[in-house]
Amino acid sequence: MSNVIDFTKTPVADFYGINSFSNSVMRERLPKNIYREIRAVQGGEKELSLEVAEVVAAAMREWAISKGASHYTHWFHPLTGLTAEKHDSFIAPTGDGKVIMEFSGKELVKGEPDASSFPSGGLRATFEARGYTAWDVTSPAFLKQDPTGTTLCIPTAFISYYGQALDKKVPLLKSIDALSKQAIRVLRALGNTKTKRVITSVGPEQEYFLVDKEYYDQRPDLMLTGRTVFGSMPAKGQEMEDHYFGAIKERVAGFMRELNTELWKVGIAAKTQHNEVAPNQFEIAPIFTNTTTAVDANQVVMETIKNVAHRHGMEGLLHEKPFAGVNGSGKHNNWSMDTDDGMNLFNPGADPASNAQFLLFVAAAIEAVDRYALLLRSSVATSGNEHRLGANEAPPAIVSIFLGGALTEIFDNITEGRSATHSQSGELIKLGVSSLPNLPKDVSDRNRTSPFAFTGNKFEFRMVGSAQSIATPNTYLNVSVAQVLSEFADKLEKATDKNEAIQSIIKESYSKHGKNKVVFNGNGYSDEWVREAERRGLPNVKNTVDSLTVLTSSETISLFETHKVFTKEEMESRYHIYLEKYSKQINIEAGVMINMARRYIFPAVTAFAGDLADNAASLSSIGANNAPQAKRAKHIADLVAELYDETAKLDATLTEAQSIEDAFAQAQAYSEKVRPAMDAVRARGDALEKLVAKDYWPFPGYEELLFKL
Ligand code: ADP
Ligand code: MG
Repeated sequence: MSNVIDFTKTPVADFYGINSFSNSVMRERLPKNIYREIRAVQGGEKELSLEVAEVVAAAMREWAISKGASHYTHWFHPLTGLTAEKHDSFIAPTGDGKVIMEFSGKELVKGEPDASSFPSGGLRATFEARGYTAWDVTSPAFLKQDPTGTTLCIPTAFISYYGQALDKKVPLLKSIDALSKQAIRVLRALGNTKTKRVITSVGPEQEYFLVDKEYYDQRPDLMLTGRTVFGSMPAKGQEMEDHYFGAIKERVAGFMRELNTELWKVGIAAKTQHNEVAPNQFEIAPIFTNTTTAVDANQVVMETIKNVAHRHGMEGLLHEKPFAGVNGSGKHNNWSMDTDDGMNLFNPGADPASNAQFLLFVAAAIEAVDRYALLLRSSVATSGNEHRLGANEAPPAIVSIFLGGALTEIFDNITEGRSATHSQSGELIKLGVSSLPNLPKDVSDRNRTSPFAFTGNKFEFRMVGSAQSIATPNTYLNVSVAQVLSEFADKLEKATDKNEAIQSIIKESYSKHGKNKVVFNGNGYSDEWVREAERRGLPNVKNTVDSLTVLTSSETISLFETHKVFTKEEMESRYHIYLEKYSKQINIEAGVMINMARRYIFPAVTAFAGDLADNAASLSSIGANNAPQAKRAKHIADLVAELYDETAKLDATLTEAQSIEDAFAQAQAYSEKVRPAMDAVRARGDALEKLVAKDYWPFPGYEELLFKL
């Protein structure tokens, strides 16, 4: 591969970010005043002017062409959950049979893909197909290289002719603005006059599986749906816990090296990699960045995992549950709030004043997660993630927060009006009446079972599915916290005694939403927690369709309208799109299953049962004991009959679901009728897999998929 760097020979620092049009490249290549303008636009202080865009476009073109780019694309996040590109070449004919390479400011800031086939949930009729993409200045442009060429990718937002959001980027950007606005109000009320903007930082930890391509290609279910719809458990699963953080196999290490190189080239700071809990499951975590960059980078990470896996004869599986009975994959969304002058608002400070600020922002996050638990739950409600959440697997579908012992104690003390306490490490923490405590340096401990954990200086939202874009979870999270902060700000702005106001806000908020409510430091996987959560009145929504209904509630709509993130119309269209996507995915899975049952499993097991029966007859003709063969043949034949019947039932259920017009009723049918019918077919298929001779079974099994690499 020509563009693969051997970094045993090339120092990483020499090639890191070579394919990213980062701020440092802009600083180098743009006139000073233009670079300053761009920074101001990034910081939300200015609108981008066409004159500035013109200069940036010229620099970008020159840079991209010098690296071999022939095409550029506005790169965007339609509601498919994937990214989309429409490539244009830089060429402009000169009229004498030659071309020059052109790229204007207008082409940089605005594109017009004919995007009528992207889901719009009725926002845009196909006859009004126009949609625009607009440059997102907050995330760097980058070069995508494949062995045959190079394309300049410009991160963009995608909007309709009438200005409605058609993608995941527009609402995300708006949610960041909303959060910044309210956080600044709180900071101002606390006496901060310097900070101009608050941004959110995100570091997503991405889990995935690798399987050998040779086996993958023999599984129609993996190829078409990303997960196995049949597959019996091998004798060994993950019970030995020998894979988690285990030594990385050489073949995988080679893959990881190349994955890192590819990511480093585009300026994605891939930092940590390790084996995960399940066999052949892995994780990669880049260093956190601002949210829009993190969202874009995560899409690139997912795509690069797949591309690099192919080069190594493997397939990367991003699905949340590729293998039943084996740990699924998630994406831990590490999230924090930072200021433009370098403060992390979730960092406890060295003095009571900065601690007051810290506790206030943590309290806001706690209250937001409690009040908008259903909304957050809906942000991770997909057909793939449904197999994890609420299905006896990490994390549970109940949204709760882990705070850790020390921080919980501090909040408890403030709430109960105690004046002094000992921290866990034994040191005395003074809780004055009018000032807040000095906090111990590290206020978090470790917890692996909480869906929303405070981990030192950030919150970690762990319910996000491995295959999904992190844009929507972050959008909802930002808006939820913005709302609570706006209420805090209302109170603080009116207060004459700020210290007293801070204490009373924390006290009121935490006693209502934290203690005995959303804060839970125990084992989130236990059955007692499910009962306890119910006593506390915490929602436990197990399936996707029910989770999504919150999107059209009047509370949700008013939340989004208040903060100008979604209009009612936009939200309703999204609700439709999500329901339809759910139905379509189950529809494909069920279709694949019927196909595999009828055209692969049925003929194979029938042949095997027939051979056994023939064998039994021959044995009998010579007076030999044929009981084992006869019994096994009968057992298999009985199971085949069941498989046949259950497949027919699934087919009928599926046909019925397909005929339902109403999107909600249809999704419900897929959830409540088609999925159980699939379970019934699977049970027969998996039982047969355990009985049929290996040579007859038409697919590679879990042994090959999970243990061979
Ligand atoms: P873990 O204990 O979960 O493995 P790490 O410290 O390895 O935690 O961090 C996991 C992810 O969190 C990384 O992507 C890291 O960059 C990110 N992260 C660290 N600090 C912050 C922060 N302040 N805001 C957002 N993400 C962060
Ligand atoms: Mg983590």
